Amino acid sequence: MHYLHDYQTPAYLIDTVNLVFDLNEKYTIVTAKLYLYANPIIPIHQRHSDLVLNGELLELLSIELDGKLLEKIQFQKTEKSLTILQVPEAFFLEIRTRIRPQENTALSGLYQSNGNFCTQCEAQGFRRITYFLDRPDVMARFTVTIIADKERYPVLLSNGNLVSHQKLPEGKQIVIWEDPFKKPCYLFALVAGHLDCAEDFFVTQSGRQVTLRIYVEKGNLPKCAHAMQAIKKAMRWDEEKFGREYDLDIYMIVAVSDFNSGAMENKGLNIFNTQYILADPATATDMDYIHIESVIAHEYCHNWTGNRITCRDWFQLSLKEGLTIFRDQNFTADTTSPVVARIHDVVGLRNSQFPEDAGPLAHPVRPECYVEINNFYTSTVYNKGAEVIRMQQIILGDVLFRKGMDLYFARHDGQAVTIEEFVKAMEDVSDVDLKQFRLWYSQAGTPVLDIVDDYDATKKTYTLTIKQSCPATPQQPAKKPFHIPIKIGLLDSSGKEIIHDFLQLKSPEEKFTFNSIASKPIPSLLRGFSAPVKINYAYADSDLQILFKYDTDLFNRWEAGQRYTVKLILNLIQDFRAGISLQLPTDYSSIFKFLLETMQDKDKWLLAEMLTLPSEKYLAEQMKIIDVDAIHFVREFVLTELALQLQIVFLEIYEKNHDKKSIIKFDNKFDTHEMGQRQLKNICLMYLMILNNKLYFSMGLNQFNNALLSNMTDTMAALRCLVNIENPEREKVLAQFYQQWQNDALVVDKWFALQATATSPDTLSRVKQLLKHPAFDIKNPNKVYALIGAFGQRNPVRFHTDTGEGYQFLADCVLQLDALNPQIAARMVTPLSEWQRYDKKRQHLMRDQLEMIMRQKNISHNVSELVNKSLV
Ligand SMILES: [Zn+2]
Repeated sequence: MHYLHDYQTPAYLIDTVNLVFDLNEKYTIVTAKLYLYANPIIPIHQRHSDLVLNGELLELLSIELDGKLLEKIQFQKTEKSLTILQVPEAFFLEIRTRIRPQENTALSGLYQSNGNFCTQCEAQGFRRITYFLDRPDVMARFTVTIIADKERYPVLLSNGNLVSHQKLPEGKQIVIWEDPFKKPCYLFALVAGHLDCAEDFFVTQSGRQVTLRIYVEKGNLPKCAHAMQAIKKAMRWDEEKFGREYDLDIYMIVAVSDFNSGAMENKGLNIFNTQYILADPATATDMDYIHIESVIAHEYCHNWTGNRITCRDWFQLSLKEGLTIFRDQNFTADTTSPVVARIHDVVGLRNSQFPEDAGPLAHPVRPECYVEINNFYTSTVYNKGAEVIRMQQIILGDVLFRKGMDLYFARHDGQAVTIEEFVKAMEDVSDVDLKQFRLWYSQAGTPVLDIVDDYDATKKTYTLTIKQSCPATPQQPAKKPFHIPIKIGLLDSSGKEIIHDFLQLKSPEEKFTFNSIASKPIPSLLRGFSAPVKINYAYADSDLQILFKYDTDLFNRWEAGQRYTVKLILNLIQDFRAGISLQLPTDYSSIFKFLLETMQDKDKWLLAEMLTLPSEKYLAEQMKIIDVDAIHFVREFVLTELALQLQIVFLEIYEKNHDKKSIIKFDNKFDTHEMGQRQLKNICLMYLMILNNKLYFSMGLNQFNNALLSNMTDTMAALRCLVNIENPEREKVLAQFYQQWQNDALVVDKWFALQATATSPDTLSRVKQLLKHPAFDIKNPNKVYALIGAFGQRNPVRFHTDTGEGYQFLADCVLQLDALNPQIAARMVTPLSEWQRYDKKRQHLMRDQLEMIMRQKNISHNVSELVNKSLV
């Protein structure tokens, strides 16, 4: 176990790193020449004279210190380290190792993807390349030499600028890359292979021209245009919004098919999962287009928040990730629809972070201990971390927050710092005391606000009493009160806004009184989701209707609809369980009718979001003991009833917005108006098709057939409905889709995911069959996410089938994966960790599988840490 409070300043630092890679077909020889020196801030009498380097799965060939070969008695080697005994104050160290990238299935360190070499070093992959001080607070200047066969690996890349390129005898070539910026080794990258390249350029605000290159596997060049535009958009945005300019003469992105996560911000040489680069309208959906832009913006933004200023240690991961998610969320809000972007952020947080905070794996945004750091690339560190930054912006206001950012950049450029330093910069520019606010970083759990109100008709005063609490989480039974920014508005009974205000809750309970309020108002609470908390307030249906129709805060308008639906569905679940026949109140559907009629020509995208009911996962979060079957049944009932009652207007809107040719011209940009139109008509189609009648079925089928070659948004929308209908056409369209796109790996992933999330009873046996499909490859993370991950995480009703077969299936997959790629195995196991939320029978079945995993020998740290915590 590693503890934050054990942090020690590094005893030795590295000034320069000279790496030579000799890439071969069976192995690679790495020669690392390091110049090291004793850290001057540690007094000599406190310094240890042995140098301890990290290293894993390395075959040590030789070590030289200041040009002299070391004898066996001068160093000690273990499985995870290399200790050089009695080193001088400053010295050169040359270490030669042999590694086997071709056999590396963990995809950490140097490995191969479709025959090309690439790297992933965050968090601790560099120690699988050479012995090193593998910690982010050791920053050094890197020079990288790559020697490889010219035919097989014409493209040889590393960080920084290319300074030399020469032919060698025997068909080989040698290149040298130099990175002028000091960096920690987790930002090192190397790529070698047969790649096509798209090139463009960007002129920065100070007039420097930067070459932009995107490298992709052969044949994918036509799908890079959107990504290239996105880079330029992100570079301009960061200049305008945060005054940050790019610093090298070249910015490169390489897209690879085998990658554990989405993308990696290596200095000047980002490596991306192909999923977040490749797009054209025929193969990528509108949401894919948006995700590509946001991931590109994210990795680009890391150049300042992550690379120029990095983390002192991995407990500070949110310093770069929370902040950079915050920055990419702002980018998406600024360049698409701010309210829809915010809705998506919040839905994401509620579907993934809230359950994490409520379960056995709950941890603070800045964790205090870990066994395996790769288990902490979580929604809490990323998404809640971003909310914590956002709250600081709300508390300081936009102007002071920007000043704080500027100060943070100016003060810490080139350093490895802590979250504390970020908050300090915010305090220093504002004179706001954030002492209590810091608890957001150290206390886990989602705070709950219990709110009651009181209207005094004689004094014309309105009072909100807000009480905060936070449930116990592992190692944190009791919490101190948080500093919570709460944006609110008050509406009169006709929906007109009387007041908007910003409250700051610091005590366990506080009263906020508003004067000169003519009649009892309707409170619009936590506008824009100003804090990542849950709210309990006894809204009457009529209040929610007013807010849903008229709230000027568009996020809260959407939120009122979600609240209204959650309330309704929870009531219907009680009826369902009591055997009472279900009835949808007419004022529920009439409010949707009102929205459809008044909003369809205004904000189509927002309307589509308002017509989307809360997910089964979010509904599950509202129940003490989750009843997956009841949730699924009742949610389907509400959808069907809405469809029945509103089919005429759904049909009308569908026809008005449906382009029969379904051909989109993106012209390198994508139009949020057109996207909104597609979102809206496709949600109307979903409602209609749930009615399962011939007319609507053939409408869906027609959309599928017309769009199949040209528009993936429309194809997927229709196909998603078709696969959930028991009909012989189902197999036909699935086969047709596969036939058409079998050579496009990313589209095949969609085909897997669609089947894994289908709600039909035969889904699990289908998923098992698909594991044997020739297009499935358990070594490829995208395929694993698409099939196994989608089933375990996005198909509650089939995963939690009460026979326990879903659990058994997942546990077997976890074991199989663990032997190949522990990081991916650990990400698959998490649905089982939530066992305490289910009924006794399921609890036993889930625990049985967790215990079965623990009984295995040689289980990875990654999986055992999560399973152990889950079983406590
Ligand atoms: Zn990141």
